[in-house]
Amino acid sequence: MSLSPLWTDIDWNRDGRQDGFLNLEHSVHRSAYGIVPIPATLLKNGTGPTLLLMAGSHGDEYEGQAILTRLVQTLDVGRISGRLIVLPAANLPAAMAGTRVSPLDEGNLNRCFGDVYPDSPTARIAQFIAETLLPMCDVFFDFHCGGTSLNYLPCTYADIWGDDERRRGILEALEFMNAPISWVQHGAPQGPVAGRAAYRNDVTYLSGEFGGGGAITRDALRVAERSIHRLMAHLGILQLAPEWEPRVESRLMWARQKHYFYADRDGVFEPAAELGAEVAGGERAGIILTPETPLQPAHPVLFPDSGKWICTRAIGRVRRGDCLGHLLVDAPRNEVLSDA
Ligand SMILES: [Zn+2]
Repeated sequence: MSLSPLWTDIDWNRDGRQDGFLNLEHSVHRSAYGIVPIPATLLKNGTGPTLLLMAGSHGDEYEGQAILTRLVQTLDVGRISGRLIVLPAANLPAAMAGTRVSPLDEGNLNRCFGDVYPDSPTARIAQFIAETLLPMCDVFFDFHCGGTSLNYLPCTYADIWGDDERRRGILEALEFMNAPISWVQHGAPQGPVAGRAAYRNDVTYLSGEFGGGGAITRDALRVAERSIHRLMAHLGILQLAPEWEPRVESRLMWARQKHYFYADRDGVFEPAAELGAEVAGGERAGIILTPETPLQPAHPVLFPDSGKWICTRAIGRVRRGDCLGHLLVDAPRNEVLSDA
């Protein structure tokens, strides 16, 4: 049998607990046969669905990394029914550097799930997830947040696609998680994102944008942790602890391309409203100032539509083309469930 550039000792079909590594070959000047050991834990007990929990796809997004690190320390395999695969730091080099992309190859793991995999360390991780892990899975939960450059009001996310029964099943899982905002996108993702690989494998893709700005907050942690505990309960993998039981008000929302807005010049973006505000189209989102030419008039930035300001830029300095944020608008349930 030939040697693989990414190998593991974990036997994915064996009952019990295995804490191991996905060993990614990384051959460089100082270490010809070196590996990057990406932590992976398997918890398998009896029959039941398989759920992949992944964090650290982007290294500067910390809520999921913290939650999954605690989960593998505390979760007893005897308490679960089914199979949990846990990757607390999927793009390990990026996670250890605290950066969105990998310092090894500038690879953005969540843009490496296209139809072909380039020969790079980050793409090899994507390929292993897509071709080895996802074929075993029923549901894939992928933790995200705004990272260093964006800040999100904590929300969960789902891609809605498939036949009538599948679409209803995905929406049920999303709504059972019961985040204050449930964000749906209709149809299979077109870009090379993890949701695209889940779709190719007929696996339900759930995610969330839990805060950001390069920081970690109690509020974002709580929404994220509650979401995955409720998801595990919904799937019958783990009983719901009383602390996660009470339901909160939740809104089903979505976005179109027009809800994203961008800087059209360099400068400093000064927002005119707070994240989470209900805004009207044409209302001022903020101004772009140029401290380097202070007498240049401030340039207004307007909200492109009415909606809820769910995501904002977290870094004051902007360049032309930077995303300044986006809105979500209420999603009619019948349209969410319509043929994708
Ligand atoms: Zn992310």
